[in-house]
Amino acid sequence: MTAELGSVSAEDRLGRLRAHHRALEGCRRCPAMLGPPVHGESVLSPVMLIGQAPGTKEIEQGRPFCWTAGKTLFRWLASIGLDEHQVRARVLMSAVCRCFPGKNPKGGDRVPDGPEVLACSGWWGGELELCRPRLIIPVGKLAIAQFPDELGRGTRLNDLVGRRWPYRSASGIVADLIPLPHPSGASTWFKMEPGKRLLPQALALIAEHPAWRALRD
Ligand code: SF4
Repeated sequence: MTAELGSVSAEDRLGRLRAHHRALEGCRRCPAMLGPPVHGESVLSPVMLIGQAPGTKEIEQGRPFCWTAGKTLFRWLASIGLDEHQVRARVLMSAVCRCFPGKNPKGGDRVPDGPEVLACSGWWGGELELCRPRLIIPVGKLAIAQFPDELGRGTRLNDLVGRRWPYRSASGIVADLIPLPHPSGASTWFKMEPGKRLLPQALALIAEHPAWRALRD
């Protein structure tokens, strides 16, 4: 994907996004990952949300954020004006990895390793180029870590959530990054200070962003 996409019509880009998702459905590149790969609606949205990786329920149902973490995420987003149905239909819901990484022997889901993250990066990178969003919402540390130039090498939520960060891709996409914590029930960050204070700040920044407001109108 290159800067040439900036001059391609929206209709053509939507066709390419659908083809991109069909190709993603057939990806079996990572031997330790459990598919089939999951993606959101093929929607050319000014807002792109990037999660971590699907869980078992997402794989079963073929939809991102369809279980407990999703309930929390959609509750947060409903508080700023879009319910789950509207988010799914209007926001490009992406992820760092699109297959289930399996369980961590120590508990919880395994975090995808470096080669898996790299192998899958072309899928969300392609979505980014085709969608050309004006607002990017990385959800959780793994998604935040995909933007080291903008958000730094550290992924301390205390330093990153509740602020807006400028993003410019090599192909000329200009957007704002507004990170959110992962809404997993295993996370305690957003239930304690400073997360309790920073999460509403981040949601307020999203609510007032022109790209989000355009989805509400
Ligand atoms: S994690 Fe990504 S790159 Fe790996 S098999 Fe699944 S879709 Fe393909």
